[in-house]
Amino acid sequence: MLRKADPTWVCSSWLFSPAPMTSALRLKAKLPTPLVALADLAYNYWWSWTEERVSLFSNLDPVRWQTCGHNPVALLEAVPDERLWQVAEDPHYLNRLRQLAREFETYRRGAAPGPSQIAPNLSPDRPVAYFCIEFGLHESLPVYAGGLGVLAGDSLKSASDLGVPMVGVGLLYRQGYFHQHLNRSGWQEEHYTHCEVNHLPMELVRDEFGQPVTIKVDIRQRPVRVQVWRVLVGRSQLYLLDTDRSDNDSLDRRIASHLYGGNPETRLAQALILGVGGVRMLHALDIEPAIYHLNASHGAFALLEVAHREMRYSGVGFEEMAHQVRQQSVFTTHSPVSAASNVFSADLIESFLGGYWPQLGLSREDFLALGNRHPDDPWALFSMTVLALRLSGKANGVSHRHGELCREMWQGLYSDSSPVPIGSITNGVHARTWTAPLMMDLYRQHLGPDWAAKIADPSLWAGVDHIPDDQLWQRHSLLKERLIAYTRDRVRAARHQRGEAADEIAAVDHLLDPAVLTIGFGRRFSPYKRGELLFSDLHRAIRILAHARRPMQIIFAGKANPADDEGKRIIQRLMEWCRHPALRDRVAFIEDYDMAVAKLLVSGVDLWLTHPRRPEACGTSGQKVCLNGGLNCGTLDGWWAEAYQPGGAGQVANGWVIGRPNPDSDPDSQNHQDAESLYDLLENHIAPVYYQRDSQGPAGSYRTGLPHQWIAMMKASIRSCAPRYSSDRMVAEYLTQMYAPDLHPQP
Ligand SMILES: *Cc1c(COP(=O)(O)O)cnc(C)c1O
Repeated sequence: MLRKADPTWVCSSWLFSPAPMTSALRLKAKLPTPLVALADLAYNYWWSWTEERVSLFSNLDPVRWQTCGHNPVALLEAVPDERLWQVAEDPHYLNRLRQLAREFETYRRGAAPGPSQIAPNLSPDRPVAYFCIEFGLHESLPVYAGGLGVLAGDSLKSASDLGVPMVGVGLLYRQGYFHQHLNRSGWQEEHYTHCEVNHLPMELVRDEFGQPVTIKVDIRQRPVRVQVWRVLVGRSQLYLLDTDRSDNDSLDRRIASHLYGGNPETRLAQALILGVGGVRMLHALDIEPAIYHLNASHGAFALLEVAHREMRYSGVGFEEMAHQVRQQSVFTTHSPVSAASNVFSADLIESFLGGYWPQLGLSREDFLALGNRHPDDPWALFSMTVLALRLSGKANGVSHRHGELCREMWQGLYSDSSPVPIGSITNGVHARTWTAPLMMDLYRQHLGPDWAAKIADPSLWAGVDHIPDDQLWQRHSLLKERLIAYTRDRVRAARHQRGEAADEIAAVDHLLDPAVLTIGFGRRFSPYKRGELLFSDLHRAIRILAHARRPMQIIFAGKANPADDEGKRIIQRLMEWCRHPALRDRVAFIEDYDMAVAKLLVSGVDLWLTHPRRPEACGTSGQKVCLNGGLNCGTLDGWWAEAYQPGGAGQVANGWVIGRPNPDSDPDSQNHQDAESLYDLLENHIAPVYYQRDSQGPAGSYRTGLPHQWIAMMKASIRSCAPRYSSDRMVAEYLTQMYAPDLHPQP
């Protein structure tokens, strides 16, 4: 399906040459000569994957590093010249810079032969185009909200590491996702900050005449001009579409101002920019994807646009074209329920796309039927998931259980006789992003210097058994202390900002204790995640947390959707417990959960709690916890249903399971049963293991000695989860099962 670019969609010249990064050149001109290599590093998110790379920037000016939001471009622009010249004369710093610059060059040039053998259809000119409404690469690029975006970011990073040619396609949100602030009554308020596009590590894509490459998409019967920013992610690229141009109507300029902030009209406009605009943009840049991968359904219009473009040349009808599109399309669904949120009314679809379906040779009914679950029902909502399933040759859920669930849920879309063609590929996380430097260092020592290149290899991780208990415990304890210090800083600042009394602010000095078993809970607050399960019975919770000899403490973090008052009420109640006299030193809430908070939280806790209402699609934060030696305690659902390993018969357990599903229970009694199970686990199973030490301090104090049994569980958890729940394993599975031509039929 190789075609020349179609000039009618391309406003400026389509002759695109991958010009050198002019922004990087500008930055180089500012830097002292010995430091120019910093500019290339700053403009490629490869720098964010390990601490030694990050520290190259943070060491320049630790205070400005914080105020710049960990953005290296903004930092290099802000650091005073005297400081830059000082560093330019520091032989130690220059040595580190030279070494990293060399490593970066080797990385960029090296291409692994594996992927091209497995999927000869892929090449840098014919990559996988990975469409997603959000991308979470790093806290400095605010175009993500949560798990979906972080998964997309981790996928781009692993694709780069493995040499799988991949380009991401997403939207640039000028106001990003909201910042969370809790007011004095504990109610969530949302703040947006304008993102300074010219100081972010990305570049506006220009043609050979220096003009921004733009494409057009009709929205509300009006042409909207879209420009595009390129973000480098190792060897992968991410293209972010942007309508905020002065030649657009002011309403159209704001189409993508907020991520998930809009009404249905805005959401639909965003879907059109992402899908239709994304395909036109790739074409304008002369990128001919071999595979279109939709990560969640927001980009589903892309597949219509691929068909549309081809039909203009080939003259074949939509049906036949759709058949061809299916040879190239992959859809990953994330929703655990069929009444998905990503639906639009037929009227809205008509008002936005009424001019589009004739171009596909389709009638109104035929077009609406593509997104209707029951094609005979003209009033049904238009579902992006249904559209994506109908036009994708391969589809998958994000864990084994979720795959099963999807096959049941969507059976009606397929003919009764054949098996439902939805597989499953369980999500994983990018270990080099999510493992704390102290732990990486331990892995380097005991698994070998090239451990990071073999993450998905289970035999590598057997080496975890060689780590001496005291070393593992000491590193873990340091990470926990760091998390507690950070939590206190954040809580102190928040109380200050709310104008709380001086004694409330001083009380933060006693908040959390590094010797106490520390639980983490970081995720979206919505009723179905059941964030307050631990407090179902307040007396019981107090008894457990404030226990004299075996105390526990918990750190919460997470946002509620702006429109979700129920979720905000949950946060409000948690804030009350943070102030409760019996709990005030044992319960903390970190505001404004993002990737930076997540990194500290998953690396510093002893225990991670996961207990959403069943079913859960996958969940990934517990996987990040494993890499850092924390243990999971969760419902047997999503990834944990695959990963949990009970103890016995010579095998050490790798965590705990909360409750069991009871199909006959209503939600309230299921909550009750799960809470009972959680209490029982914490009191009778988890605390005893954690506080059993090989040497006791004075009067049986819990502050000394090593908990060998707990450490054995930490090792079992790392060994069993690290290789399997990595995004390297995940991307390799996409490569063989979804991207490669059908030599490898789906199971
Ligand atoms: C990993 C991550 C998530 C996803 O967590 P789940 O366990 O899938 O809910 C959400 N937000 C941030 C900031 C993350 O880092």
